[in-house]
This record gives sequence, structure tokens and C-alpha cells, in this order.
Amino acid sequence: MARLPSSILDYIAAQQNRHKLRNMTHILTLPIRDSYVTETSELQNATEEQIVACLEKSRDQVRSLETEKHVNFLNMFLSPDAPLPDKFTGLDASRAWLLYWSANAIRVLGGELSDEQKKGIPLTLESFKEDGVFGGGSGQDAHAASTYAAFLALADSDDEDAWGRLINPEEVLKHNLKLKSPDGGFASNVGGETDVRGTYCRLVVASLTNTLTTELTDGVIKYIASCQSYEGGFGGSPGNEAHAGYTYCALAALAILVPIREMDQYVNVESCLAWLSARQYQPEGGFSGRTNKLVDACYAYWVGASLVLINGAVHAGPSLWDRKQLAQYVLNCCQQSGGGLRDKPGCKADAYHTNYAACGIAMSQYIYFPEGENGLYWQATSCDGADTSICPVNPVYGVPLGVAERMRLYFTLKEENLK
Ligand SMILES: [Zn+2]
Repeated sequence: MARLPSSILDYIAAQQNRHKLRNMTHILTLPIRDSYVTETSELQNATEEQIVACLEKSRDQVRSLETEKHVNFLNMFLSPDAPLPDKFTGLDASRAWLLYWSANAIRVLGGELSDEQKKGIPLTLESFKEDGVFGGGSGQDAHAASTYAAFLALADSDDEDAWGRLINPEEVLKHNLKLKSPDGGFASNVGGETDVRGTYCRLVVASLTNTLTTELTDGVIKYIASCQSYEGGFGGSPGNEAHAGYTYCALAALAILVPIREMDQYVNVESCLAWLSARQYQPEGGFSGRTNKLVDACYAYWVGASLVLINGAVHAGPSLWDRKQLAQYVLNCCQQSGGGLRDKPGCKADAYHTNYAACGIAMSQYIYFPEGENGLYWQATSCDGADTSICPVNPVYGVPLGVAERMRLYFTLKEENLK
């Protein structure tokens, strides 16, 4: 076997020594860094130190989820009449998001929404309606992201009467068509930017309401493909840096539009897989969202679900990432003692990170298989030793398996009854 140059062996030995992890073979995969010190390299070193200290405390074990504490934390955001907790008032324009993140995370974590919470979701969203879709809060402009969040929160509420009352598919289609750009993408709001996130959000609500017409989808695949960067991941719009959030949006949008196994006819799946694989860092075990950025628990979903989608397309097998190490990062380092999950040690928990860390763990605890031709329906089997109190999550919609499917069926049957 070829021997690594001594300078590299010295480097690895120094890293092993620095982290006191002499017996961990995976340390050999540490990225090789040069000796040029920058603010970024110092921050990376400090973050590694903090995470390794956290991992060492649990000695190769994976902490279990403190579901009850997390559910109590999330309940704070689901009282229809209560004002936002003081430290979260800056999220007033993200109230639709807060409903989705909180209701969804409770369900993904294996908790149950109370009847009051289920009723409270449509009650709150009623005042956010604007131009047939939803704004981020009461009296705010309609936006693709808040509409996406509102639809998924409504799907999580299981309240079919509310779906029929608050959602009119014809109005949704009319609004979506108004925001279509000549390049095939969709703008997030009237006069707003066109990007792959807005495009994904609009395709999700169109797919849920069975309004994916040819007029709506014409040119969209080409637009999405144009957002793939030379790195392999996707940027927000053509020419931009690859980012895991946008990469997820691009792949999930494609899964809505084309048969999952034909995805490689439209984008470079191989380079995307290589870029996604490079997002898992050593020794942290977590995923980063961009090249040279720090690990963050929310990317457990953005990267994890992207890898599940890619695997649905190319059958690369269940070992595209180290599931145990990811679980150790999220569960040992990112559970806040008072409840909620956080980006990384030193950060405060919030509903966004709680939801996406939970969904990311769901990506890691199960092996997913596409059911049928498209990427809308999935089956899941649990991995060995998985915590099955966590629900498997649909990697296209980001809600527990069965939730989005039920809403799609509701609007499909409604349309058939109207014919
Ligand atoms: Zn994050």
C-alpha cells in the first residue's frame, strides 16, 4: 500500500494529538489545511475544539433524544393568542414558519399535537391570507416561503375542513403563474428575486393542490439545472456559490417534476454527490452548508435529505454518510438542556434548528426508497439500532411520511368530484 508522505503523517499525528483521539481511525480523513492563519481557520479550529470536548464527554455513545423537553420548548410557539416569547419577537414576519417548524418538529419527534394546537394553526393562518396564498404574519405581503410554511403547517394540522376553507387551488395556481419569471424560475414575491428556493416552495404548494399544469412547469427544469455550480452543489440562482439549502431545494423540486431515476438526465448527479459527501466534517461529524463553513445541525436535513434524494436517483447504497457520527453531533452536541436543538454548542436553541435537526435525524435513522416512478412517495425502513420514536420524513416535503400525501389526495379527490 502506498505510504502517505511524512509531512502529511506528521500533520495527522498533530491533529490526533490536538484532539486526544489517538485511536480514532476516521481522523485519517481530516481535511488537510495549509498553515496560513485567517479568521475563518481560527474559527474552524475553535469550533472543532468545542465539539470534540462535547463528544469526548459521551465516549462514543449516542445520547438519546430528550423529546419531552423539546416538545415543551416547541409548545411556546403554538399558542394562537399568546404573544411571541420576548427573545423571539424578531420573528414576527416568520409566524407562518414558526407554526410549521414547531408543529412539524413535535410530530417528527414522535410527540402529538393537542386538539387545541391543531385548531389553532388554521385559526392563526386565516389572518395571514393574501392574494389566495399566505404572508409571514397578519397583514403582510404574500410570499413563496411563508406560503410553503403555511401549507405544511396546515398539512401537519390534519384539519381537512380548514384545508377546504383556507385553500382554493385555482387561486393558488393564479398566484403562482403571476410570479413565474421568463427564465423558468419563480419570484418569491411581487417585485422580489427569482431563485431556486422560491421555485421549490411554489412547486410544493402546486403539487399539494394538484395544480402542476404544463403552463406552470414549462422551462422550470432548465432553470433549476442552470443553478448547478462548478462545485457540484446548487446556488440560489445561476452563477452563485453552491449552498446546501439551495441544493436541497433544487433536488426536491426536480423530484416533483421528473421521475426520480431520471434525475441524472437533467443535472450532474455525480458532481452533486461528491460535493454533498464533502459536507460531513471530521472530527465534528456534522454537515456544513458550504465549502469552508462551519458545521451546523440544520444541515443534517438540508444535506441529509439531499443525499436521500440522490440515492433515490442512483442507488448508491445506504453508506453515503456516517450516520452514527452525524447522530453524535446532533444529539450529543446540539440538544439544549432546557429543551430545543441548536446550530452548534454555544448557540441558543430555536424552532428552526429544532425542526431541521429532528428531520435530519429522521433522514439518518431510516433507509428511504422511492415508491413508484416519481419522488413524491417514499417508504422507509429503520436502520439497525435506530430510535424509531422519530417519524420517518418525506424528503421532498419535510413532513412525516403520509402527511403531504394525504393533502395531495384530498385536493385530487376534490377536483375529481367537481368534474
Ligand atoms: Zn443552521
